[in-house]
Amino acid sequence: MKFSDFNFEESLQEGLDSMGFENPTPIQEQAIPIIQNNKDLIGCAQTGTGKTAAFLLPILNKLAKDPTTTINTLIIVPTRELALQIDQALQGFSYFTSVSSLAIYGGSDGSVFEIEKRALTEGANIIIATPGRLMAHLNMGYVKLDSLETLILDEADRMLDMGFVDDILKITTYLPKQRQTLMFSATMPPKIRTLATKLLQNPEHISIAVSKPAEGVIQGAYLVYDTQKNNLIKSLLEGKDLSSVIIFVSTKLKVKELERDLQKAGLKAKAIHSDLEQPEREEVLRNFRSKKLQILVATDILSRGIDIEDIGLVINYDVPGDAEDYIHRIGRTARAASTGVALTFINEYDQQKFLQIETMLGSEVKKIALPENVGVGPAYTPEVRMKKPFSKGKKPFSKNRKPVRR
Ligand code: AMP
Repeated sequence: MKFSDFNFEESLQEGLDSMGFENPTPIQEQAIPIIQNNKDLIGCAQTGTGKTAAFLLPILNKLAKDPTTTINTLIIVPTRELALQIDQALQGFSYFTSVSSLAIYGGSDGSVFEIEKRALTEGANIIIATPGRLMAHLNMGYVKLDSLETLILDEADRMLDMGFVDDILKITTYLPKQRQTLMFSATMPPKIRTLATKLLQNPEHISIAVSKPAEGVIQGAYLVYDTQKNNLIKSLLEGKDLSSVIIFVSTKLKVKELERDLQKAGLKAKAIHSDLEQPEREEVLRNFRSKKLQILVATDILSRGIDIEDIGLVINYDVPGDAEDYIHRIGRTARAASTGVALTFINEYDQQKFLQIETMLGSEVKKIALPENVGVGPAYTPEVRMKKPFSKGKKPFSKNRKPVRR
């Protein structure tokens, strides 16, 4: 599934494109339609599953479609860090829309309080707030919440642990009774269920666990230019007694090129891709399984379909589309308590995408220095989103597009 399947407003889709979001995560796939149907929702999900975009995108889409000048959505969070993080994600997604937002989290000086007061009086569309600070404003009597449509409680279990339950219940007395309420929590202890029965009406439930790479997989990554990738593969494989190596490559053309290059270097490599007839594919796979063939070069499309589990080395010639794909691929090594190695080649354009995968996995993958004979690779600057140059025939970006740097 792709984000474009949700048919979001163009201005929101543009924000997603410029942030490099293509495929929704499982929680996004499940939660977005429920939220768009105006249902209440309990989502059991941790940070790293993509829950922030799961609740922000349908709300932003609604506001991009029907702009308003009042407070439409209130997001209550336990900490100022989370408030800021959500606000940053929101600013990225909403960059090309006219939706306004403000994070309200206290601890700052009087002038900040005044800015918050203005936003709460004049009506920023989305308010992200910690409970204590919001209560301070509510007690002053100027906050206009009568047009509010959606209340979101994020990291509800942490809010209860931090003793915010009374504040939350108090805050809800200021909100219209007719509203949509969404609650996200990493765990679902009984006290969360009790709170949910008080605040939500006939909620839908979804529960998402973050998948983790199999234990025993040694992961590493190389920062490398595209032009260096074939040399790097050869220097990793030549002269080594390796069996069962899979190299995943993003396009059919590159698969064929790499196959030729490896064969020229005397390596036992064969490619499978959609141009091969079924019997040819099966023969390649049979030889690979029986270890007659050392190296299999495969397109991404086939990565899920190949039913071979016991691989010594997986090489991602390009960064996979998302964390699930990454885990699925590297999961082919290290079956049944053995160890396996998974190496990913990251060019200068894919650094941010790989950082997103690492964030979703909750761990950093070690970056390994290139062998000397391969030369110097690109610097590691994942915070800068590099745009790929356009190849012929591709549509350029619209003129008013500005890059979103976060
Ligand atoms: P969250 O669980 O909302 O804190 O998200 C964890 C990380 O995953 C953040 O860095 C997001 O930018 C990233 N992320 C969330 N959804 C997607 C997606 N569909 N594609 C790529 N990255 C994503």
